[in-house]
Amino acid sequence: MAEKYRVRFAPSPTGSLHIGGAHTALFNWLLARRSGGSFILRIEDTDRERSTKEYEDSILDGLRWMGLDWDEGPDKGGDYGPYRQSERMDLYKKYEEKLLDEGKAYRKDDATFFKIVPGKHVSFHDEVYGDIDVESEKVSVNQDNTVKDIVIMRRDGMPTYNYAVVIDDYFMGINMVIRGEDHVINTPKQLLIYDALGFERPHFAHLPMILGKDKKKLSKRQGATSVFEYNDMGYMPDGVFNFLALLGWSPRNGEEIFTREEAVELFDIKNVTRKAAVFDMDKLNHINQEQMKRMSPEKLLCVIRPFWEDMGLPTDKFSDEYLAGALQTLGGRGQTTIQVAEYSDYFLDFSKVTERYDGSNAKEEIRPKLRKIYAELLDDWGDGTFEHLHESAEKIFAENDSTMKESATPMRWALTGRKVSPGVFEVAARLGKEETARRLRYFGLL
Ligand code: GLU
Repeated sequence: MAEKYRVRFAPSPTGSLHIGGAHTALFNWLLARRSGGSFILRIEDTDRERSTKEYEDSILDGLRWMGLDWDEGPDKGGDYGPYRQSERMDLYKKYEEKLLDEGKAYRKDDATFFKIVPGKHVSFHDEVYGDIDVESEKVSVNQDNTVKDIVIMRRDGMPTYNYAVVIDDYFMGINMVIRGEDHVINTPKQLLIYDALGFERPHFAHLPMILGKDKKKLSKRQGATSVFEYNDMGYMPDGVFNFLALLGWSPRNGEEIFTREEAVELFDIKNVTRKAAVFDMDKLNHINQEQMKRMSPEKLLCVIRPFWEDMGLPTDKFSDEYLAGALQTLGGRGQTTIQVAEYSDYFLDFSKVTERYDGSNAKEEIRPKLRKIYAELLDDWGDGTFEHLHESAEKIFAENDSTMKESATPMRWALTGRKVSPGVFEVAARLGKEETARRLRYFGLL
């Protein structure tokens, strides 16, 4: 890719960063990083009633959560600022004057209209949708299909989206506009303004829409929520990043699970598909799990710790080494951070075990036998490694005429309070001799 792309994400601060916005931002970011170009953040706050600083901050935080860093923006400045439309009024006024002077725009009802000249063709090449051609009289129409001139300045003195976006993309040096397919209908309007002002046009790439599993527009229930809600639901930034990158794109090596670096390495806007992408929660779960499996235990610990804390588990009572080890023992179980935190709760707090298990799995008749077996196992604790415990248990079970199923199951219940868990000797090795003994004793098994 020879060209260095200057791309932008241009959210309106009228809500938090939701999945659709994150998707658009992600593709812009990928192209900027792939081409060694720049990713610019521009706040489109011309709707003064609905725009707030809180939403702006929340969008920035959402991008940070996603790990999408920008090179220029309202918080960090840059050579093409200001980066909030409300601070760029001089520019909009200047070019409004120019269009008025040249007779390309006119004033009516306190607003300024851009005149559409009929009988022309507006054509452009979309990097995703291919060649698009619209007759100028169809670019903007009234309900009865008559030509509707484009408002560029509203009565409240603020520029409209279709006008401000042209001035800003041009003066910010944007050479590739990447945005959702819902904006394809706006592009010809913007091109008429580019041409009228004699501005060089950028390239355009529209991204396919994201649909719910029912093939309908993404609903609140099906993903159209803020990225922070994904965090609260147990999805990690790496998982959401990977999942969103696959909505409308796939790397040519066919890999479904990749890191940010790999995505940057393999990204090509030419591989973006036109077909609407389906938001599939099962796939998100799968990707999120795979991303967690690929993390080092130390890094996973940073992700899981707050979830344990939210559950009231005493993380401060344990060393990082123990906690990371517990996650390692969990061995990739759990699709979400919440599940990982829950599935591993017994490593941090025995009361979680006693809350859900009353000892009933070990039948009275068999208890004397189990007590003998567990006592022998504790006696032969050795170096306490999983390998040693496993080997020793096999021997002891056999000598006592017992089986894995008979002897290991009540132990699993006593240590974890669960029917399903990692291997019971791995759990015992992680808990240590003292804690294992304490738990067995509590349930009258030692
Ligand atoms: N503020 C517009 C939006 O949020 C930007 C669209 C564009 O990228 O041109 O939809």
